[in-house]
Amino acid sequence: MRIVQKPKSLILGAGAAALALLAFPAELFAVDKDQACVQSLWPAASAAGVKRETFDRAFQGFASDPEVVEQANFQPEYVKPIGEYLDRLVSDKRIETGKQKLAENQALLGSLETRYGVDRNVIVAIWGVESNYGTQPGSKNVIRSLATLICTNTKAKFARPQLVSALKILQHGDVSLEAMNGSWAGAMGHTQFIPTTYSSYAIDQDGDGKRDIWGNIPDALASTASYLRVSGWRAGETWGYEVTLPKGFDPKRVGQNTLRSLGEWQKIGIVRVNGGAYPRLADKASLFAPEGTRGPSFLVLNNFRAILHYNVAWSYALAVGHLSDRLKGYGPLVHPWPTDETHLSLEQRTEFQRLLIAHGLMTGEPDGVIGPATLEAVKTYQRSKGLGVDGFPSLTLLKALQSEAPPANVEAQPTAEGQPANIGQDGAGGLAPVPEGTTTIPRKVN
Ligand code: CA
Repeated sequence: MRIVQKPKSLILGAGAAALALLAFPAELFAVDKDQACVQSLWPAASAAGVKRETFDRAFQGFASDPEVVEQANFQPEYVKPIGEYLDRLVSDKRIETGKQKLAENQALLGSLETRYGVDRNVIVAIWGVESNYGTQPGSKNVIRSLATLICTNTKAKFARPQLVSALKILQHGDVSLEAMNGSWAGAMGHTQFIPTTYSSYAIDQDGDGKRDIWGNIPDALASTASYLRVSGWRAGETWGYEVTLPKGFDPKRVGQNTLRSLGEWQKIGIVRVNGGAYPRLADKASLFAPEGTRGPSFLVLNNFRAILHYNVAWSYALAVGHLSDRLKGYGPLVHPWPTDETHLSLEQRTEFQRLLIAHGLMTGEPDGVIGPATLEAVKTYQRSKGLGVDGFPSLTLLKALQSEAPPANVEAQPTAEGQPANIGQDGAGGLAPVPEGTTTIPRKVN
C-alpha cells in the first residue's frame, strides 16, 4: 500500500524557515548588505587596475568587523593628560629597547642616515612609538578593516582610496593577505603606514622586489627615513628644545602656530633648560606649552613639523622627539608635568561649564569640551578670586565653584563660544592627544 504522504513536512519546513528568519533576520540582512557593498567596491578597484582575481581573493567570505566600527567611533570619556601619554611612550623600557635596536641595526641605520639625512635616533624613536619596535603592529586584516569602514559608512571618505591602494599592494605580492595586518584604520606594519602612504613612500631596502614593512626591518626603517625626508626633514638639525619661560610669561597668549626665530624667542627670555646656546638663531620655531605654565615648554623647529606628517598630533611629535633625545643619551625633561591636580572627567568638565554659566562667566550649553570661551571664563573666575591666572580647569577650582552659590541676577558676559573648540581638554592650545590604542587619521594629509 502506498502511503500518501501528507504535505506535513513541507509545512514544517516552511515553518522552520520562517522561524529561522524570525530568529536571525539581522544577521541575514547584514551578510546580504556586506556582499552588496563588496560588489559596489569593484568599479573603483577595477578602474585602478585591480584584477578580478585579486579582488575576489581579498573579499572571499567577507563580513564587516564590528570591532573596527566600535574603535573608529570610540570617543574617550577621559583623555589622558599629555604627561601620562609621554610617560607611557617614553618609558624606561622603551628607551632601553630602543638603545638595543640602535646597536643591533647600526650598519643599516648608518646607511639610512647617509642616504636620507635623517637622524638614526629619530628613525628608531618613530619605530618605538608607532609599533613598540614592531611588537604591536595591529592584528586586524587591513582589507577587512577598510572595507568595513566603507560598508558601514564610518570614515568612508578616508577609507575608499586606502582600500584601492591596499588591493594594489596585495596584487603586487608585497605581502600575503593573511599577513596584511594593521590597526583598525589600516596603519600597517613596523612603520604603521596607511596604504596610500605606503604606495608613495615605502622602500625596498634589501632589494628582494618587495616593500615589506610587516616583516623586514631594513624595508621598514628605510621607509620611515624616506618618508621623513620627503616630509621636509633637514639633516643635521634637531626637532626642538625644552625651554624655560621668563617669569610672568603666559604661553597661552602665543598661538601654537606663531613662528618666530630662535633669536626673537631668546630676546624675550625663552632659553634652553640646560643654559646652552641655540645653534642657529635664525631658525624658525613655535612655542609648544601643552600645560601652560604648569608643565614643560618647548620651542619646536622645522623637523618637529616633519614628524607631524607621520601623525598630526603635537603630543605624538613630542613623544617621538623626546624619545629620540633619550636614545641619544640626554636626560628626562627638566620641568615636571603637573601632578598636583586630577584632570577632569567629561562629567566634571560639563559640570564645570554649567557652574561657569550659572556664575555668569560664560554663555552657551555645557558640552564638556574646554574651548577658548571656557578658558577665558576660568581666567575671569581666577582673577575675581585673586588666584593665579592660568585658565586651567582644575579639580580645586571645580570644588570652589561647587561650594559657592551663584550670584543672583547674573549678567552673562559675551563669549566667543561657537569658535572651533581647538583647545584640548587640558587647555593644551590646539593639542589633540592621541587616545591610547588608536591611530590618528589621516596619517598623511593628502
Ligand atoms: Ca624588501
